[in-house]
Amino acid sequence: MQHSSKPRGAASRLVIRNLGLVLTGDIARPVADADMIVIENGLIAAVGRQSAIGIGSAGAVIDAKGSAIMPGMIDNHSHPVMGDWTPRQNQLGWIESTLHGGVTTLVSAGEVHVPGRPGDVVGVKALAITAQRAFSRFSPLGMKVLAGALILEKGLEERDFEELAAAGVTLVGEFGLGAVKDGPTGRKMIEWARRNGMTSMTHTGGHSIPGSARIGSETVLEVDADVAAHLNGGPTSLPEAELRLICEKSPRYLEIVHNGNMRAALFVLNVIREIGAFDRLVLGTDGPAGSGVQPLGMLRLVTMLASLGDVPPEVAICFATGNVARMRGLKDRGRIAEGLAADLVFIDQAMGGAGEGVLDAMTLGNMPGIGMILVDGVQRIGRSRNTPPSIIVPEFQAA
Ligand SMILES: [Zn+2]
Repeated sequence: MQHSSKPRGAASRLVIRNLGLVLTGDIARPVADADMIVIENGLIAAVGRQSAIGIGSAGAVIDAKGSAIMPGMIDNHSHPVMGDWTPRQNQLGWIESTLHGGVTTLVSAGEVHVPGRPGDVVGVKALAITAQRAFSRFSPLGMKVLAGALILEKGLEERDFEELAAAGVTLVGEFGLGAVKDGPTGRKMIEWARRNGMTSMTHTGGHSIPGSARIGSETVLEVDADVAAHLNGGPTSLPEAELRLICEKSPRYLEIVHNGNMRAALFVLNVIREIGAFDRLVLGTDGPAGSGVQPLGMLRLVTMLASLGDVPPEVAICFATGNVARMRGLKDRGRIAEGLAADLVFIDQAMGGAGEGVLDAMTLGNMPGIGMILVDGVQRIGRSRNTPPSIIVPEFQAA
């Protein structure tokens, strides 16, 4: 389902003016003093006030009409397989549908749903390389899918990690999905991955699918992966005492997912707030999952944490954007800042709801509507087919 028609906005220079609110995704400064973004060759060239930047010799102009804008979200925890198909729910088009939910990058936590998935060393290596290669050449509706997340199986050696890294594999899927389930072996393999520049994660909580394992706090801390994945369960969470222990003892990133236990999510959020570690909180969906494909999973999760968890919405957005990029070492995206990819999502208060403006509406628990999405400065969609309609819809201005 590749789209060959040339999307709008492919001009080398694109100016977005009349922005009502620029949400940066940068937890150090979640709101920019800006009403204009200039894009050149797919990258953000300037962010600021039109009065300071000027409109210049615009190639193309989008009138934001007062809309807010945020970086495209990065789902830190997804389970792609091949193409835009998931065998988990035997559904086509889930990646395109997810882009309509404001996500512009999916990070694989392991291609674990591949039917007949190999469990031998040469098989898991081949799978990781194949998935990485395939998704680097296949981008449904512009979605950037970072796939090829090695599943840890018995018999992998350090030279395998070196070979995979040299072949372009940058991810290790959730520890615990493969046959390696003991702490010492996991720790050793995660160290090999880290030495070879790969980011890693560990399943946290009860068994996810038959064949997977319960991974408790002791193992999570021992394995010491770059992120304790779905602390709120995937989907079954650990007892609160263990969750608190992981948050307090681990120096790594901490993840909350959409397909988890929402009570545990709020508990974890509050512990992370207590210890002052909002800069280490990342979000994902853990989809596709048993509970389905949720194209709005990331947007729902951000809104739930903002409303039920009492986090300013502009900060909750950072958990789904800039924090994930930092955790994954993605220096080219995740924030609205000069030099980064223009992966941008226009959001506004959804029609017919309570609140005054998009942030207030989110605080009251209503998801925003998406009016347009750009990937690398190219318009991929106008009004989202999945969110409720936004009040404001930005428009390309006639030249
Ligand atoms: Zn998991």
